[in-house]
Amino acid sequence: VKDCLFCSIADGGVDADIVSSTSEVVAFRDINPQSPTHVLVVPRRHIDSVAALAAADRDVLADIFDVIASLARDEGLDEGYRVVTNVGPDAGQSVPHLHFHLMGGRRFSWPPG
Ligand code: AMP
Repeated sequence: VKDCLFCSIADGGVDADIVSSTSEVVAFRDINPQSPTHVLVVPRRHIDSVAALAAADRDVLADIFDVIASLARDEGLDEGYRVVTNVGPDAGQSVPHLHFHLMGGRRFSWPPG
């Protein structure tokens, strides 16, 4: 999608610190990390958010969660981690391209603020 930041990162037009890349999924470090590990995992193909998922997205979602599990192992998050996806203004979604935050390396409070 034109002018979509994460589409541009996925196609190489905008630089990012990419930590994992498959045919369907790209993962890169958040530019403003909120935990020692803070990686964003996104589909290459544009999807607005989880609210826009359809049955045809099952395979890419499975790939996303494979990448998340493998990154969590690579980053040594043996004590646990958090996976977050924000939808819309109430949740504070600031980039309208589906992304899952993989966060770890510290304790998180519950419920989130
Ligand atoms: P959200 O607020 O859930 O939509 O998450 C968007 C995330 O993207 C935020 O945590 C930002 O810090 C991060 N972000 C914005 N621009 C970039 C960028 N160019 N490279 C990496 N992460 C970014």
